[in-house]
Amino acid sequence: MTAQATDSKILHRSLITHPETVESASGSYYTLSNGQKILDGCTGAAVAVIGHGDPDVKAAVMEQMSQVSYAHTLAFTTNSAEELASTLLEGNPFGLCKAYFVGSGSEAMDAAMKLARQYWVEAGEPQRRRFVARRQAYHGNTIGAMSVGSNVARKAPYEGVLLLDNVSYVSPAYAYRVQKEGEAEEAYSQRLVDELDAEFQTVGPETIMAFIAETVGGATAACITPPRGYFEGVRRLCDKYGILLILDEVMCGSGRTGTYFAFAQEGDVRPDLVTLGKGLGGGYTPIAGVLAHRKVIDVLAKGSGVFVHGHTYQAHPLCCAAALAVQKVLERDNLVANCAEKGKWLEEQLRKKLGPRKYVGNIRGRGLFWGLEFVKDKKTKEPFSPDVHFSREMRNEAQRLGLAIYPGTGTADGYVGDHVILAPPLNVSQEDLDILMDLLMKTYDVVEKRVS
Ligand code: PMP
Repeated sequence: MTAQATDSKILHRSLITHPETVESASGSYYTLSNGQKILDGCTGAAVAVIGHGDPDVKAAVMEQMSQVSYAHTLAFTTNSAEELASTLLEGNPFGLCKAYFVGSGSEAMDAAMKLARQYWVEAGEPQRRRFVARRQAYHGNTIGAMSVGSNVARKAPYEGVLLLDNVSYVSPAYAYRVQKEGEAEEAYSQRLVDELDAEFQTVGPETIMAFIAETVGGATAACITPPRGYFEGVRRLCDKYGILLILDEVMCGSGRTGTYFAFAQEGDVRPDLVTLGKGLGGGYTPIAGVLAHRKVIDVLAKGSGVFVHGHTYQAHPLCCAAALAVQKVLERDNLVANCAEKGKWLEEQLRKKLGPRKYVGNIRGRGLFWGLEFVKDKKTKEPFSPDVHFSREMRNEAQRLGLAIYPGTGTADGYVGDHVILAPPLNVSQEDLDILMDLLMKTYDVVEKRVS
């Protein structure tokens, strides 16, 4: 981010400064208009799963463009949409049977919330009007998706005005801040499930449509991973009360954690609805989706026979063609397995080199999806005062040195902290991972000195 007087006509996040211009991008690198090369250590926010400038994706989009670039889904479907849905769903052992493609993760979450509501209306239980979600969660920026998220700072101006008031929250699976000192993983996991049970009972389980959670938490809490047994416990609880389970895999899905679906590492967990986004199109085109379990689809099929929803650009042929090409590259190059393997190396390096450092409170993640949480005091876990802007300093310094990382501040329950996310392409080379680690350490050294 440079402090140039802004002559850009884009309404950027900041009205004071505007970001550097990316001229081109290839593989794991951006090239800026000033000639600087930046290693993409976070792929935006865990988006570019196959890196930038892939020729197969380009060819697929061009080919699609020459066949059909748009057809309204009210009257038509297209081969690219059908093939993408088949690729994602065929042979899956989870009971997922239909895909609904939209333009962003937020729209996918809204669609999932509407599917859940329609399911209950048509199942004859219209009194189910509530959602239970988690603190420290991010589900998007539309009114619906933001309502079930809990990024306190982003929500603040809209509370009581634009946001839904039928949502309540339980603790996230955020071991660093929620697991008690000396508490065994099983006990911690069970405590989270018991808390959810208590919330269901307080709210009245017969009034709840769905429980909503990111399988591995992303933007608001940086790669928080569930303890063993947690999601199995959640699933059992949802089944006990008939509550739907919506898993948000917009950030952690599409292979990012070392399996295509992050929930596949959680034992026998079958979501009723699961959302994908970012990695689905790998950043080539805006596309996200909801995959629905047969149970949900059967009720709608026997009921009204329609999903009462729709967007002009849903299942857009060019977006679906790009996403399909991304899936083919993932498959052809065995990138999900590569992610799991490279992720082990990255974890080991992070723990060895950054773990002992003064301000590194916690390192967590899975696959090529790692979060670093910075604290002022490692013993007490006291965060930095917000005016230190530790994570923003990390981002700025990294970019100066030629590395892109994704900064954030977790906000919930009075806690405001600093973290950064690392999420390189799933086909990142070992050489580039070495460079990533080197630049990350250099960045950290500078920021540590600066704030000490
Ligand atoms: N869910 C999760 C878990 C996300 O991380 C995000 C984006 N950060 C969204 C939903 C919203 O996606 P989008 O920004 O594409 O609307």
